[in-house]
Amino acid sequence: MQLFNMVSLIRKKRDGEVLSAEEIGYIIKSYTKDRIPDYQMSAFLMASYLKGLNDSESAALTKSMLHSGQVLDLSDISGVKVDKHSTGGVGDKVSLLLAPIVASCGVPVPMISGRGLGHTGGTLDKLESITGYNVNIDLNRYREILKKHNMVMAGQTEEIAPADKRIYSLRDVTATVECIPLIASSIMSKKLAEGIDALVLDVKYGSGAFMKTVDEATKLAQKLVSIGEDFGKRTIAYLTNMNEPLGYKIGNWLEVEESIDGLKGNGPDDLMTVTYQLAGTMIYLGGEAESIDVGVSKSKESVASGKAYQKFLDNVEEQGGKLDYVKSPGTYPKAGVTFEIKADQNGYLQEMKAFDFGVASLELGAGRHSKEEDIDPTAGIVLHKKVGNNVKKGETIVTCYTNNSDIVDNVRNMLNDAITISDSKVALPTLISHRIDKDGILQL
Ligand code: URA
Repeated sequence: MQLFNMVSLIRKKRDGEVLSAEEIGYIIKSYTKDRIPDYQMSAFLMASYLKGLNDSESAALTKSMLHSGQVLDLSDISGVKVDKHSTGGVGDKVSLLLAPIVASCGVPVPMISGRGLGHTGGTLDKLESITGYNVNIDLNRYREILKKHNMVMAGQTEEIAPADKRIYSLRDVTATVECIPLIASSIMSKKLAEGIDALVLDVKYGSGAFMKTVDEATKLAQKLVSIGEDFGKRTIAYLTNMNEPLGYKIGNWLEVEESIDGLKGNGPDDLMTVTYQLAGTMIYLGGEAESIDVGVSKSKESVASGKAYQKFLDNVEEQGGKLDYVKSPGTYPKAGVTFEIKADQNGYLQEMKAFDFGVASLELGAGRHSKEEDIDPTAGIVLHKKVGNNVKKGETIVTCYTNNSDIVDNVRNMLNDAITISDSKVALPTLISHRIDKDGILQL
């Protein structure tokens, strides 16, 4: 490997110059091998955030991150392997529902997910709130579980895109998340490494998303689709609304609880609408439905028949999770401190800013301030109302759960500011606005 000087490379990016593929390859390889310290990598990430990375730099970044570990070959496992990835949101527990739904419809789902990032939750943290559930599995075990159950849910090992694993947790604590080339390389390096044939992406926009506007989300989606297609994987992206939290529950175990409800056919409308659309698209890409609409119908049937819930139970058991709490969610330990936010007037809920709910949930203990911090699986927020609902003065809008009584006042103020009540009726927000694939953009 050609040797470069990391300080010069940081300076070059800081000054807005374009780095070569060799220079980017050097940074990624050296950081993965612990030859570049976190403080220099942080400076590089911030310079990239501020000055941007052009198409050739982001292609080089994705490639080097992808090849920082093994690229799995799952061709010995029959079926078209399809995965889904979300760019991150608040209350976004779609993966937990979708993997068993799609797997129970005959499409293999090899899913490698991330931890909470910034104000957003992560699938791995949610899964680990199921006592005993093991996301740290080696590749042999990964294949074994996928073959046996048609699905596996795992974290990145040192073998799969290890560069992303490290950079992701560093970005989380250095305010360098909301950057299209960094997000695109992070998502696509780990997705391309996991041996998939096709990919469905949920690109979120709005207050609780990393992309605040439909415009930015469109750019990210186009970038993700073009990287996927360049690597020969059918890739379809949806733009979905993340102005208010998805579903009614935010926080790790709380989200597992809501996913179980969804798999039993009792999920909230917004969560199930997004889940069925993405699941139906995966079933279509996996060759088990002749159209996306047929895939959506199949995914609804798999929930109605109980097949999807059974698939989830089988997966939890296979990955070491205890079924007691999953089967009786009400027996899960409760957080020590509970408090409520009440409506200060009669009216209609106009806004529940997802970003503030995400930060509040993190402060309650459901997320991290630093890489080393443990999360509290019982912490989080339950909404009792959604945007558009009618509320009466004094009615409870939100209940918060935490084991840290010091943050109660802070979180109470934050959530009071995040909620707006209007005197007049409020239109329901659009949930899924566009589909983007290699043929272009379709408004839905
Ligand atoms: N999800 C990822 O995997 N990476 C990001 O950078 C953002 C969301």
